[in-house]
Amino acid sequence: MSVHFVGESEKSEERRFWNPALETLPLGSLKELELKLLKAQLDYVRRSPFYHEKLKESFQGTASLSNLKDLEKLPFTIKHELRESQKAAPPFGRHQACSRSEIKRIYMTSGTTGTPTFVGLTKSDLVDWIECASRSYWAAGFRPRHWVVSSLGAGPFIAGTTLEGWRNIGCCLVPVGPGRTERIVDAFREGKADCLSSTPSYALYLLEHCEKAGMDPKVLGVKKMQFGGEPGWQEGMRSKIESAFDCVATESLGMGDISVDFWGECEKQNGMHFCGQGIIYPELVDPDSLESLEWSEGAVGELVYTHLKRRCEPLVRFRSRDIIKVTGIGCTCGRPTPMIRVLGRSDDMFKVKAVTVFPSSVKEVVGEFLPRVSGEIEILLTHPATQTKAPVPINVECGRDPGDNTELKNSIEDAIHRKLLFRAEVSLVDFGSLSRSEYKSRLVRFVS
Ligand SMILES: [Zn+2]
Repeated sequence: MSVHFVGESEKSEERRFWNPALETLPLGSLKELELKLLKAQLDYVRRSPFYHEKLKESFQGTASLSNLKDLEKLPFTIKHELRESQKAAPPFGRHQACSRSEIKRIYMTSGTTGTPTFVGLTKSDLVDWIECASRSYWAAGFRPRHWVVSSLGAGPFIAGTTLEGWRNIGCCLVPVGPGRTERIVDAFREGKADCLSSTPSYALYLLEHCEKAGMDPKVLGVKKMQFGGEPGWQEGMRSKIESAFDCVATESLGMGDISVDFWGECEKQNGMHFCGQGIIYPELVDPDSLESLEWSEGAVGELVYTHLKRRCEPLVRFRSRDIIKVTGIGCTCGRPTPMIRVLGRSDDMFKVKAVTVFPSSVKEVVGEFLPRVSGEIEILLTHPATQTKAPVPINVECGRDPGDNTELKNSIEDAIHRKLLFRAEVSLVDFGSLSRSEYKSRLVRFVS
């Protein structure tokens, strides 16, 4: 006779929101809450030498902040300033606002320059990060009954907090880590896990792994996939992955300097909902003019974030460099917040004459030719990428059965010209010849 234990977590399986009070809060009431928190926070951040100086001119106490629009008068914070700030006062920088004894978690990240950067969290910062991740995974339909295999190399990194998010919502976690695809396959086939948390690139890698092994990906029994860590991945890949594994794939977005996943897609799959209510205040700005933009469907801009509660390294108007499109405001799932898709990083985009191109959109257009192509591409650019001349050389990897090569090359070049408004010179390369990454795909290679 089998005995079914109803645990506390199972009782709450059908709850639609992780934090109903905040996640269903109408936008007007959310604004009131944000203003209240912002006032207290701006007072707080001025205790750090960095913001004490930076806000001296523009912020004369909470009386000068009568509505959220007033925040626009404050200067932006950029990544370079944070690096300089950490160099001047290691490890956390001149923007550290809490005392040393309050810091309860430290993540080290390897900066592009090779010097490590440090991310510090107080107890309440950590709670807020886990709260954000919990809301976004719950929005994606993950519940305590799910067994989630994580292929992310998360433990010692910032993404490690995402594991605490899974634990917090009651999921069973199977941490495997990167570079162990056989173990991942075993976790599903033998271990009967049913969900995967990974980058979209890894899901494609796993798919190819199955194909090479002559295994139908469906035998893994993956029901749900949660993608993170790779903003601006190509939407066309989603249907390929979903149909190959017979699963539902949703995505989430976070940022090391702000929080782990605080954008999360619900099962309607119409973009990622903002899930950081009461913790982060998001703005949208034009990346060229830096003018503020309204949150409205179809708007395209750069995300700018202000922490509403962060204690250790609070940031004000931090430019994320993530360029997004607003896919809607409010959703039939009951979340009234904006939804977004990431178009790319402003650092990665390049210009051909007056046309701005995101490498991820090129990948998306090429992805429409699956399975004649593998989906892997490599855009060859010369420094500085802002001066790119047409035609732009692009290596496109063939699928196992590409058909007529000349016709394929011409069709891809046509599609790029039609959809992205620039001319490309496509070179078809053999299947498997472009480098694969289990983590993030590199779409651009600089050539001299
Ligand atoms: Zn929704």
